[in-house]
Amino acid sequence: MNNNNNGLLVILSGPSGSGKDTILTELTKRDMNIKVSTSMTTRKKREWEVDGIHYYFVDKDYFMRKIDEGQVLEYAQYGINYYGTPKAPVDELLAQGRTVFLKIEVQGAEKIRKLYPEAVSIFLMPPSMAALEERLRCRESEDEEDIQRRLTIAVDEIKRAVEYDYIVINDIVSYAVSDICTILDAEKQKTFRCKNIIREVINNVDLRGVLKNHLSRYSLVTATAKRARAISEDAEEKQIILTEKPVSMAIDEILSGKYIIIEPEEIRNI
Ligand code: 5GP
Repeated sequence: MNNNNNGLLVILSGPSGSGKDTILTELTKRDMNIKVSTSMTTRKKREWEVDGIHYYFVDKDYFMRKIDEGQVLEYAQYGINYYGTPKAPVDELLAQGRTVFLKIEVQGAEKIRKLYPEAVSIFLMPPSMAALEERLRCRESEDEEDIQRRLTIAVDEIKRAVEYDYIVINDIVSYAVSDICTILDAEKQKTFRCKNIIREVINNVDLRGVLKNHLSRYSLVTATAKRARAISEDAEEKQIILTEKPVSMAIDEILSGKYIIIEPEEIRNI
């Protein structure tokens, strides 16, 4: 149960070939609330990659223009190419309460930690350098020069794994995915993410009944806040002193069916 209206931002780093894409594919199958941010890159598209899905493939001029326009959350040079995270989609998804994964390298991770201190960072570790090299060669997407460049960068990246909140070894994919799910579950229960629960329980609001009847926690929280605001504005206008908290009154109205929430299609799927 995610106790917070805001989403969870998760940084996933790991050397090229550590299996980030495979892990993310499995994670998104297990948890529909997870969204992976699509980065922009100046690198050439690999044969199997789809523009707009794996990356937005752009030229350097466009990339730099987006940075100047303030539309990039973070960016880094990796090898001979640039990679960056578009800002707007990440903020939108977090506001919707989604778990947003940034699949970024170590320099970008450092910037995100400063911008979002509450972000969770996970370093995906290959079981050995030999296994990493074998994976890089097996995928046949890089030439020898690029493989050597990526292996050199990998050593520096692994040294910086100490900067992360968690290290997950990716030897067997299903184990690594389970480890990450455990991390996410624990992170969602952290006290600083659950402050609203303390407030709600003190206000004697039992949310269990309400949540049973609504598909999306996001729309429930939004509707409750909206109705509570309307109740309080109405009371102020009519100069009535409320004996109950507006949020409790709003929940009562929702529970009794007096105030009906109509969930838009896109919210229902969250
Ligand atoms: P690749 O060329 O193998 O797709 O990616 C190379 C490296 O760039 C990987 O470590 C990947 O995680 C990282 N990367 C991908 N997108 C971004 C991004 O938006 N920002 C940063 N800083 N790194 C990224």
